[in-house]
Amino acid sequence: MTSSIAPALAGALGAEKVFSGDGAKDARRHDYWMLSHVRDHLGAPGPAAGCVVRPTSVADVQATLRLANETGTPVIPLGLGSGVVGGVVAAPDAVLLDMGAMNAVRFIDTENLLAGFDAGKNGLEAEQAVAAEGLTIGHWPQSVAVSSVGGWVATRASGQFSSAYGNIEDIVHSIEAVLPNGDLVVLGKGPRASSGPDLRQLMLGSEGTLGVITGVNLSLRRAAESRAVSAFEVADMRAGFAFQREVIQSGWGPPVVRQYDERESKRLDARATACLILMVHEGPAALVAAETAAVAAIAARMGVASAPSDIVDHWLGHRNTVPSWDMFLQRGIVLDTVEVSADWTRIAAIYDDATASLKEIPGCLAGSAHSSHVYRSGLNLYFTFAVQTSDPSAMETTYLDGWRRIMDATDRHGGSLSHHHGIGRVRRDYLERELGTAGLGLLRRIKTALDPRGIMNPGVLLPDA
Ligand SMILES: Cc1cc2nc3c(=O)[nH]c(=O)nc-3n(C[C@H](O)[C@H](O)[C@H](O)COP(=O)(O)OP(=O)(O)OC[C@H]3O[C@@H](n4cnc5c(N)ncnc54)[C@H](O)[C@@H]3O)c2cc1C
Repeated sequence: MTSSIAPALAGALGAEKVFSGDGAKDARRHDYWMLSHVRDHLGAPGPAAGCVVRPTSVADVQATLRLANETGTPVIPLGLGSGVVGGVVAAPDAVLLDMGAMNAVRFIDTENLLAGFDAGKNGLEAEQAVAAEGLTIGHWPQSVAVSSVGGWVATRASGQFSSAYGNIEDIVHSIEAVLPNGDLVVLGKGPRASSGPDLRQLMLGSEGTLGVITGVNLSLRRAAESRAVSAFEVADMRAGFAFQREVIQSGWGPPVVRQYDERESKRLDARATACLILMVHEGPAALVAAETAAVAAIAARMGVASAPSDIVDHWLGHRNTVPSWDMFLQRGIVLDTVEVSADWTRIAAIYDDATASLKEIPGCLAGSAHSSHVYRSGLNLYFTFAVQTSDPSAMETTYLDGWRRIMDATDRHGGSLSHHHGIGRVRRDYLERELGTAGLGLLRRIKTALDPRGIMNPGVLLPDA
């Protein structure tokens, strides 16, 4: 199929935007998903796409999807490839639609605090563009320097400062997208609307399965006038959850609230003896001063000890490093990070159950967690597991076993199976547990209505029927 569509694409878009050479295709075989890296490491890499298309305009994306739809050719959207759940895995019959050349700042509106970006815009560059105007997007995923604005929307991403500034769905003002039949839609208009269902939600978390996001307008903030940090230490995770709950439910909203279990606390700072809690307070100076004092008072009332605040400064300075999988794979170690969420009443049981289960895996080096996003009704947990195996042929099953244990433990206690990385391939067979049978059926009907030929990113999000 693709061999016939590549010349047609070159004719419609221009030959300079369509790449059939091995170099371009090999560089875009997959995203950051650990299992794709395991397969590369084992010398069994997945295939490359039939061709790569790098559109430079919305019209290019429309022309690509129209041709793909007519011919039934799969299309795999690629942002900057930092996804960690297998949302981008090339197939030889597919067009790999690399959005990286659509990277303009469309506008910055300092009166209405809005900015518009092409979907392929690098996240850090987007933030730097608005920072030059004294503004901030306030969305800081650890991967900010290696992810795109469109990718943030497609995966329903979360930034480290989410507890005050919100997750990406709270920051998005409007979304421009091309549907699988080539139609262009712009979803979202004013600061709020009561105009039927909010269709932006169709694109938020769609993972390339319902269309291609071509532009995103984001709602900005003025850069914070003041910043302060606090650090605390609690005896165990339960005590920390109780402290976080009291702070948030009392009405305080530090943008960053992170709680590390004992193992991760020691890794963060050798002085730690139990569980560290880090906070960053930002906003008008008066609010920052009031919040810092109020949180300290809550800590004193609850018997929570303070910890050296330079731990937060160190975290702030190192928070956006992107680790390489290779040095672990060379030592026979498979690892991953898995984020889930739950209500306050369920989260401790999920932590206990999942970490205990991970430690039962033969060769387990680490089964730990921290929380990094807090809400009035609960919070997330971000598990890390690392398992060493001397048998290379066991790496894939060992990796999937780690995932299964966290998914099962979360499901057993009624938690939500993903907080911000999305579903991709690694979680798609768990999606029915999250949505229920009827919910999954609804999502399938939406998919069929928008994409009747099933061209958009097949294999991602939805389990095989
Ligand atoms: C070290 C590291 C740290 C990370 N930290 C965070 C974090 O703090 N918070 C967080 O939320 N995530 C984090 N991630 C995950 C990842 O960075 C996010 O999911 C990010 O939003 C993906 O953006 P991307 O442009 O790289 O998308 P890609 O990896 O290119 O694609 C991700 C998915 O979105 C689809 N897609 C991408 N662009 C479009 C588009 N324009 N239209 C339609 N579909 C599209 C793809 O088909 C794929 O399914 C981290 C990843 C790494 C490697």
